[in-house]
Amino acid sequence: MYKAEEKNCRQSWDNLGFKSSVLEHIVENIRCPVCHSNLIKAQDKDNIFPSLSCSSCSNSFEVNDVVEDNCSSYDDAEDEDSFAHCSDCSSLSSVVKLGEKWICFSCHKIHNDNDVGYCKYCHRFIAGNLEDSFLSGCFMCEGQMGHYMNSKAYD
Ligand SMILES: [Zn+2]
Ligand SMILES: [Zn+2]
Ligand SMILES: [Zn+2]
Repeated sequence: MYKAEEKNCRQSWDNLGFKSSVLEHIVENIRCPVCHSNLIKAQDKDNIFPSLSCSSCSNSFEVNDVVEDNCSSYDDAEDEDSFAHCSDCSSLSSVVKLGEKWICFSCHKIHNDNDVGYCKYCHRFIAGNLEDSFLSGCFMCEGQMGHYMNSKAYD
């Protein structure tokens, strides 16, 4: 009975298009805020922030109610490419892929797939506009321009 329900819950997340390594992490870490069960089901396929329900106590809540607290643990995730740093809210490893989009669990910004990539200057994995990142950097680095401006060689 428990196993079947667990499978059900996993499937509901799977349907939303979470990359499996991210999914594993979320499923392992989410707990019902009311009864602390981990049998959490994602409900709404059309909403990029699905509402969730607990299979044990039937309470419903939002995805960020259960995931946000775990953001810091994303830092230890093995698959680094699954977690981008958000240039909108400066949260580290808070952006995860959901289908064709990336969403930040911290500020709820939705990033397009082509706005997520490596900073050409510091090579960090960033969600945000990286078009001129070699020259102007990302929110975590100064880029080449900033580097030269701060450099004593140009005094
Ligand atoms: Zn519950
Ligand atoms: Zn953010
Ligand atoms: Zn950078």
